[in-house]
Amino acid sequence: MSVKRRNTKSKQSVIEVMTAKKTAMSHAEIYEKLVGVCDRVTVYRILDRMVEDDEIHKIADVDGSVKFALCHHHENHEQHHTHSHSHVHFKCQNCLDITCLEDVLPVYQLPDSYQAKEVNFSIAGICPKCQ
Ligand SMILES: [Zn+2]
Ligand SMILES: [Zn+2]
Ligand SMILES: [Zn+2]
Repeated sequence: MSVKRRNTKSKQSVIEVMTAKKTAMSHAEIYEKLVGVCDRVTVYRILDRMVEDDEIHKIADVDGSVKFALCHHHENHEQHHTHSHSHVHFKCQNCLDITCLEDVLPVYQLPDSYQAKEVNFSIAGICPKCQ
C-alpha cells in the first residue's frame, strides 16, 4: 500500500465535478458527468478512498440514498477551526440540492450515559437559489 495511489487522474476528475457542483452529489450523479472518463466501479473506489482519507464525507439523504460532499479543511487554517462532519446539511425541497452549512453545528444535550458517535443533522427548506 506504500505504492503511489493509482487513478489520480480519475480522482482529479471526480474532484473537479464535485467542485463545480458545490452541493452534495450521489455516486450516480458524479458518474453521469464522468461517462467515458472512468467506469462506475472506479468512481465507487475513488469515492470510498476519499471518504477514508477524509477528503469527502458521506451524507445520508432522507430517502436512504447516500450523497458525498467535499471536506473543507484548509479554508480556515489560520484559526483552529475544527473540521467536523456533524455540521448541518440543508436540503432544498425545490431543487433537492444538499448544501453543507459547515459553520452551523447542531446543539443538543444527550441524557447521561448516552454517547454520540455520529450526528446526522439535516434541515429541509428552500435554498437561496430557489427563493
Ligand atoms: Zn472531512
Ligand atoms: Zn433550491
Ligand atoms: Zn457536509
